[in-house]
Amino acid sequence: MINCKDVQEQIRNKIKEETKELKSTPMLATILVGKDIASQKYVRNKEKFIASCGMNSFTMELEEDTTEKELLDMIEIFNSDKCVNGILVQLPLPEHINVQNIINAISIEKDIDGFKTNSPFTPCTPKGVISVLESLNYNVDGKHVLLLGRSNIVGKPLYNLLLSKNATIIQLHSKSPFPPQAYIYQFMPHLIISAVGQNGIIKGSMLERIKEMSDYSPEMIIDIGINNTEKGLEGDIVKNDYELLDKLNINYTTVPGVIGLMTVASLAKNLLKAYKLQGGQ
Ligand code: NDP
Repeated sequence: MINCKDVQEQIRNKIKEETKELKSTPMLATILVGKDIASQKYVRNKEKFIASCGMNSFTMELEEDTTEKELLDMIEIFNSDKCVNGILVQLPLPEHINVQNIINAISIEKDIDGFKTNSPFTPCTPKGVISVLESLNYNVDGKHVLLLGRSNIVGKPLYNLLLSKNATIIQLHSKSPFPPQAYIYQFMPHLIISAVGQNGIIKGSMLERIKEMSDYSPEMIIDIGINNTEKGLEGDIVKNDYELLDKLNINYTTVPGVIGLMTVASLAKNLLKAYKLQGGQ
């Protein structure tokens, strides 16, 4: 079981040291539309971590029926406010709002989520995954990676980051012709990364069967998925399967836990970078 609390702590201390020397305090503006419990929790976690790094943040909470125009107007205010260094619109947004229009409206130097094309910021979750691998000294150069998911905010940027580190990657999505176990069996990935949002898409029993058939097991599984189950929040791996992964000697990240922590830490890093890019000293 991979634990990244120490890594998050190191990132926090490093940012804290830097912010102490700054002439002013970097500021994050978050916009939260609606009352989604999970989103409220993520926003609180982000605010807490940013504060613990010596930076400021505030959240504008808008009603579920906020129009796209009202949201765009608010973004425009934050774009032109020199005290705001980063803008985060918490996803998902209600269906009547076009996410791409919202991302397009955020000025590029404040897009600390790194969602815009040509953004100077690396998207936080993929950046968090790379931090986890680096903290474990896990070099993907020459490794086979099976990546599940191809969204614009997680799967695609993560593919590019892994490719830039010379990983050999197969990327699956909802139209892939075979289920993940077929690719695991055939491709024998050293590393599996799952960013789907389907509890149990990676099963301990499937890995056990593959081990019996071919004496192969992956070295590591990074679980990004978040699923609201009857048993609470779980990842793309069912929590009950952790014991089996231990038995198979596979390193893995738990949900909730590692990637959430590292995503928040990446956001704080990006906020400090935004402050500096905007001329802050
Ligand atoms: P999306 O819903 O945007 O993307 C899910 C991806 O999974 C899509 O590319 C989809 O394919 C693919 N997919 C669906 N079914 C399958 C399948 N059977 N096999 C392989 N791929 C499949 O989600 P996000 O990328 O935004 O997030 C992914 C997960 O990670 C979610 O559970 C989210 O909650 C979580 N998350 C966690 C974060 C954290 O901090 N821990 C941060 C961000 C996300 P297609 O493109 O064809 O639809």
